[in-house]
Amino acid sequence: MKTLTKTEKAPANLKQYIAGKWIEGGSERQVVSTNPADARQVLAQFRCADKNDALSALAAASQAALAWRNTTPPARGRILAKAAQIARERAPELAALMTREEGKILAEAKGEMDKGITLMEWFAGEGLRFMGITAPSELPKNLLYTVRQPLGVVSIITPWNFPWAIPVWKISPALVAGNAVVFKPASLVPAMAVEIVKIFEQAGLPPGVLNLVLGAGSALGDTLVEDPRIRAVSFTGSNSIGQRVHGICGKRGAKVTCEMGGKNPAIVWDDADLELALGGVVKGAFGATGQRCTATSRLIIHEKVADEFQSMLLSEMKKIKVGDGMNPAVGMGPAVDAAQLKTDLDYIEIAKTQGAKLVYGGRHLQEGDLKHGYFVEPTLFEGVTPSMRIFKEEVFGPVLSVTRVKTFAQAMEAANAVEFGLTSAIYTQDLTLAMRFADEMEAGMVHVNSPTVGGEAQVPFGGVKRSGVGEREMSKEGLHFFTELKTVFIDYTGKRRESNLY
Ligand code: NAD
Repeated sequence: MKTLTKTEKAPANLKQYIAGKWIEGGSERQVVSTNPADARQVLAQFRCADKNDALSALAAASQAALAWRNTTPPARGRILAKAAQIARERAPELAALMTREEGKILAEAKGEMDKGITLMEWFAGEGLRFMGITAPSELPKNLLYTVRQPLGVVSIITPWNFPWAIPVWKISPALVAGNAVVFKPASLVPAMAVEIVKIFEQAGLPPGVLNLVLGAGSALGDTLVEDPRIRAVSFTGSNSIGQRVHGICGKRGAKVTCEMGGKNPAIVWDDADLELALGGVVKGAFGATGQRCTATSRLIIHEKVADEFQSMLLSEMKKIKVGDGMNPAVGMGPAVDAAQLKTDLDYIEIAKTQGAKLVYGGRHLQEGDLKHGYFVEPTLFEGVTPSMRIFKEEVFGPVLSVTRVKTFAQAMEAANAVEFGLTSAIYTQDLTLAMRFADEMEAGMVHVNSPTVGGEAQVPFGGVKRSGVGEREMSKEGLHFFTELKTVFIDYTGKRRESNLY
């Protein structure tokens, strides 16, 4: 473990939250979380949860589940509304924590806070709209309706790149639907996870309804996926882990949703407003250091405007100041840790080896204070073909590849030539092309004249192909995932009936 120098502030000692109590993790393993912009700054440390802690969290959730299920949906929604209010008051402080812990620039962290709070508010309102349907019956004097009921205990497993919004968009619907939750965040962002739980605690959530275990997925993951008490698993993260989670849940018949990686294209057509496209492509590719599942990683461009757009792109990329996201002049923060930095640099080397032409960037930045963080330049490759790994595989870093095309058919073929299908964008003034893109694009989300990134509480979020399996997140779909639908037939004839319709 790292030893603190005299000038360093003592890091927060984070705990697990089980049955309404903050307790030390049972494992010998200690994790130290540091600032990716300056790894000398220790932010927090914690003793990892062990398997017994995970089992205790499951036991606590099982015990709390019945009383929570019997709390009315509007009352559950009011706790969420209170949590949203607390979060709004604390948003500036939490955004700063997010920047220090995950690395994204402060403006992006503020945006993420806002998004998560809106999601909380939206799901809080769902407490008053927790409705099934009534349907006309084939039989006279029959009331036929559906009702949504909680599942029981659910596990929520989240990645590091949206340490506030993703946990919030899973925990909020799970709770308002009446489930008890065991929440396991990524080990790189434990401090944000603790703050999320504290907000719900302060909002009045009863003990045991939301439990937090901090620790490695390799040590806790299987318990939080395999245990028969868990009725559903909501996972966001990499494809390799998502497939494993999906496989285990499939075998034991548990509900599962896995939101995974992306390799999202932006098509810029020859009639596009190039200034508009420029803003969208730069934001999509280099925003959040490219560490978004929705990042734009492939630019597919009509050859007629390719030279002009590429030179506009280059001059914009040169303006991006890379550094500590707390500095308002900085436009792009660090990779989240040394491993992600290595992945970025490895992919840059692979792209060069496979014949892509490096147009800009590609370097590990180590000048001055940057040497204490995990900084890589915004990077652009041209001449990228669909057979290259940089075209097909998720880097999760600020690396954009350019592929030139002549026809719309070629553009669509390239856009769909990957195994992912999360999100996509087209920049064109031609309504017919925009509509054809929306129709033919193999992705869960399509943007016309706006970047590949973003989602809104009231509409579904998620991908197709290898980007996602299970129910979509956010919106009604996100809520429905955490419920069981029951159909109720009530015959009020009051006497024996002979009918072939039974
Ligand atoms: P990851 O798969 O390494 O980890 C995600 C979570 O799974 C972490 O909490 C981790 O501890 C846990 N985990 C690890 N091993 C496990 C196991 N065996 N069983 C159960 N859980 C286990 O992903 P990451 O590096 O944290 O996140 C980056 C990935 O997430 C990228 O691929 C990105 O595209 C994806 N992502 C997808 C979306 C989306 O909505 N589609 C959103 C954000 C991020």
